[in-house]
Amino acid sequence: MATEIATYGREEREIYDAPDYDSYYGSPRTERLVERFETLLERVDVCSFDVFDTVLQRDGRSELERFGDVAAEFVRRAGREDPELRLSQRTCLSARVLSASTAYQMSPPVKGCREGRFPEIVQNLVASLSLPGDPYERLWREAEFEIEAAQLRGAPFIENLIDLAVARGKTVIFISDMYLPGEDIARLVEACGIGTGKVARIFSSADTVVSKRSGLLYDHVCAELEVAPGKMLHLGDSLEGDFIAAKRRGLEAIHLPVPRALMQKRLESHRSMLAGLAGEDPLPLPIGAPVL
Ligand SMILES: [Mg+2]
Repeated sequence: MATEIATYGREEREIYDAPDYDSYYGSPRTERLVERFETLLERVDVCSFDVFDTVLQRDGRSELERFGDVAAEFVRRAGREDPELRLSQRTCLSARVLSASTAYQMSPPVKGCREGRFPEIVQNLVASLSLPGDPYERLWREAEFEIEAAQLRGAPFIENLIDLAVARGKTVIFISDMYLPGEDIARLVEACGIGTGKVARIFSSADTVVSKRSGLLYDHVCAELEVAPGKMLHLGDSLEGDFIAAKRRGLEAIHLPVPRALMQKRLESHRSMLAGLAGEDPLPLPIGAPVL
């Protein structure tokens, strides 16, 4: 039976309407959310968290701006490696976006899902810049990891929920729809100050190809952990992937949206990056704008 979402619940609305994460998560209004979490927790054996914009919070920068920062950092590192190189940030940024799109399109589908994986993205982009894989793939991976780690922040409120679940004897896992393999996600989580010792498994669509959004990653996780869907609670920011798809698969779920004002900032960042890149000429890049 299809699940239809007509409106946000009270807590979702309060988070969505907050000017930023801290205004909500630092307020006493979170008590209701914790209560709801504890009620659902009692019914399940496994508690699952989305990673990006849930366990790790992003700021007002768009994905395009972040890739621009990565490209600038790569140009610096590549220049140290070979001072004769003439690379521009714009070229490297375009290579990053186009290679991600290519890796996604070229990935062999699994049950109708595709996923562009980070190792292939980096391989493609370095090759498209006519650079040798060694050492430039490593330099890009290091630049991207450093920029990601610097721009992400561990969410203390979510860490408290994780601790609460562990204290109640629940198995805690992370599930991400992401181009980064699970081991890279673990390194990022650690770099942001959240210990992964209490996390039993990290599932990423980069490793499974099937995604949360399709619902198939939930089936995969339940089979791997030998848990019935109704015995698993999932929390995350994506209405479609973390809430609707999870509910359709029979899981308990809590939707924790990104505040609208933050999404608005990301949309402005995306537009201003595109305008800066285009100059007087349009520069069509296959990268989606943040959706409000
Ligand atoms: Mg997310």
